[in-house]
Amino acid sequence: MTLLVQKFGGTSVGNIERIKAVAKRIALCKEAGHELVVVVSAMGNSTDELTNLALSVSKNPPSREMDMLLSTGEQVTISLLSIALNELGISATSMTGSQVGIITESAHGKARILEIKTDRIKELLKNGHVVVVAGFQGTSLGTSKTAEITTLGRGGSDTSAVALATALKADSCEIYTDVPGVLTTDPRKVADAQLMTTVTCDEMLELASLGAAVLHPRAVEIARNYGIPLVVRSSWDNQPGTTLTSKEKRSLGKEGLELSKPVNSIELVEKQSVIGLSHIPDQPGIAADLFETLSEGGINVDLIIQSTHQGNSNDITFTIAEEDLKRTKLLCQKLIQRLGGNLTIQEKMSKLSIRGAGIMGRPGIAAKFFETLSKSGINLRLIATSEVKVSCVINAESGNKGLRYVSEAFDLKDKQIKINPTNICNGEPEVRGVALDPNQVQLSVINIPDIPGSAAILCQSFADEGICLHTIVQSERKYESNGKIISFTMNKDDRKNADDILIPLLKVWPQAYLEDGKAIARISAVGAGMPVSIGTAGRMFRALANANINILMIATSEIRTTCIVAENDGIKALKEVHKFFKLASK
Ligand code: ASP
Ligand code: MG
Repeated sequence: MTLLVQKFGGTSVGNIERIKAVAKRIALCKEAGHELVVVVSAMGNSTDELTNLALSVSKNPPSREMDMLLSTGEQVTISLLSIALNELGISATSMTGSQVGIITESAHGKARILEIKTDRIKELLKNGHVVVVAGFQGTSLGTSKTAEITTLGRGGSDTSAVALATALKADSCEIYTDVPGVLTTDPRKVADAQLMTTVTCDEMLELASLGAAVLHPRAVEIARNYGIPLVVRSSWDNQPGTTLTSKEKRSLGKEGLELSKPVNSIELVEKQSVIGLSHIPDQPGIAADLFETLSEGGINVDLIIQSTHQGNSNDITFTIAEEDLKRTKLLCQKLIQRLGGNLTIQEKMSKLSIRGAGIMGRPGIAAKFFETLSKSGINLRLIATSEVKVSCVINAESGNKGLRYVSEAFDLKDKQIKINPTNICNGEPEVRGVALDPNQVQLSVINIPDIPGSAAILCQSFADEGICLHTIVQSERKYESNGKIISFTMNKDDRKNADDILIPLLKVWPQAYLEDGKAIARISAVGAGMPVSIGTAGRMFRALANANINILMIATSEIRTTCIVAENDGIKALKEVHKFFKLASK
């Protein structure tokens, strides 16, 4: 007998008709012999409606009272669904988060799940009941050990479902929603977006802006860490939807079920060389030329960085494995002869990266990473960030020291520390999906002192104001007085607050100055096969060059290549890249 956890979202249980339809679906599944735990959201928009009720009483309602209020939404659905099931002759019992024993942190409105007591559910399952659990809520033990109702944060029912599947060691967790699954890109922007049959949890996290609307990132992170088979499918039909996979298979330990730490692992990759091509022409096709040449030479490039530039020249920096250095050098020299520009090579470098879904939306994490390195006297040569990963290139001799200090700072255990991991790929495609983030602006601080601590101070200052920097890039070009350039992107809305943050900093660095880039869009291609496919980045750059789109900035991460383009080019760039990697439906 298989144990399934099924979650039905707000629209799927939006009215009585829908609840009856969901009950029928569950009844069929039960009759097919499965054990079932069903998690539901509040009906339709009722969480929004409850929030508005509170806001019409107070602009700033206490968070404890908000949790008391919002948790009632799901309580309505569980009881109605259980009534509907009993009406169909299926024994069903509804339970609130507290009744189940979903123990969370005490942070109201954003509590993480620490533990789930499963005795009561197991007893009910044994007696043949379908257990209907209220999503999005739990209970904290409270400061004075008095239980308090907590909620997990908007969209949190997905997280409840995956956490329950983990605690119950369920065979599968199925998320029923109003879309057919996860698509290769946003169908509102690209009409021929296609359903993905599978996607890895890591890919899903890197495709945050595409995926988060379908699945709560915290739910994806839990499924990733514990290797829970997760399916997203439509509640309107019987199509199989999208299956999320993970290679990781952690067992539940003493630490909380949802790791309360934002950083999940640290990785050191040694024996790297940094190749810098500076003052090369700034025009569409140059990056494509370069990386196609390298890929034809069989060279697998890891990190690629292109920062903003002054005038009509460009700098591109990338890392390769030391063993490929000789060949890379020859190829680059030839290219420079043709294009102009300078070539610089730095040997004996290492790449240090932190990863975790908790990095997303928490600007303080990158800042803390940079600060820890700077306090250890380690200078950052290159920086590149993605949704769930921050990478720096540092001198090889600082590698172990950096690894040790950063692991301590983020309280990472041995099993979370990875040294020179091999890229395992199970035949995943080089590009699985493409996401576009419009409404971004790009800023650069030019001539920042090239000493430990500069990036840390910059990122911390934004973090203190709660501003997320999306793509942070520090490249190799040296400015007057040997300064560096750090470029970053942020939401357009945050730009107005940036001056207040930067003015005091520019006082500390009188030689540095700010340069406002154009309104931009970020386009990211993501694929778990990328680390083992040679030339993916080159192909993405070619797709853009073919459409005569200039790339303003590049930042890559293991499974993601991000290009910053002018805002007007955003949709066109998305369509071109989507088509180039043959993601469009046939
Ligand atoms: N009802 C909650 C919300 O609307 C939780 C959920 O639906 O996942 O955010
Ligand atoms: Mg949802």
